Amino acid sequence: MRETVQQIWKKRPIIISGPCSAETEEQVLETATRLAKTGKVDMLRAGIWKPRTRPGSFEGIGTKGLPWMQQAKKITGLPVTVEVATAKQVEDALTFEVDVLWIGARTTVNPFSVQEVADALRGVDVPVLIKNPINPDLELWTGAVERVAKAGIKQIGLIHRGFSSYGNTEYRNAPMWHLAIEMKRRNPELLMINDPSHISGRRDILLDVAQKAIDLDMDGLIIESHIDPDKAWSDAKQQITPEKLGEMIGAIQWRREDV
Ligand code: PEP
Ligand code: MN
Repeated sequence: MRETVQQIWKKRPIIISGPCSAETEEQVLETATRLAKTGKVDMLRAGIWKPRTRPGSFEGIGTKGLPWMQQAKKITGLPVTVEVATAKQVEDALTFEVDVLWIGARTTVNPFSVQEVADALRGVDVPVLIKNPINPDLELWTGAVERVAKAGIKQIGLIHRGFSSYGNTEYRNAPMWHLAIEMKRRNPELLMINDPSHISGRRDILLDVAQKAIDLDMDGLIIESHIDPDKAWSDAKQQITPEKLGEMIGAIQWRREDV
């Protein structure tokens, strides 16, 4: 690996990118190669199991996609992260050497699911990122952190992906920045990564959201990228090409100590 996850955890800013969903082997490998070429990315993300709000849309390629991530890591040297929501998914992800697991917003809301994931992590030394629950409830977010910590996981990070609300707003998920700030204040030892993609839901405001997150002292960004964004099987409107991702990271005004 170019950098170990331990090194990346201490780095600022931490940049994670990759497709919303792993779709085909070719798409995963090409995305990873093009992201690595930008030199701006520390870790590769892709959804393998996709919790969709409504049935009938793409629900993820499943376990079959895990060897693609393993291969992407081999080719680029970038560590990989995927979302897990069940004990079986944890087991499969670890079998294929996924470096960092993340718990999605629709899982963080459910203590039974979080506990199932936490129990599957007992005795395993793997870093875990925990997205905020879809509703603006810091206690649920905190409860998920506590369940994972009680299972013995030492490296825990938070992902602020915004909060859902009824009706159309400028954002897909309202950032409610004060909640991320408060969660960071309560947990200064945990990483706080911002997810401009799921907050924005569209490409044109990604940079503004990312800049705001950095201005607010967040530790990193997770941004979706795709080799052909308009044709993505999920979250097409918010994805950008790996090259655009590289440009965007280059356009952010970083804190002086980060550059
Ligand atoms: C994702 O990261 O693609 C995802 C499903 O995110 P969230 O859990 O934030 O909706
Ligand atoms: Mn997505």
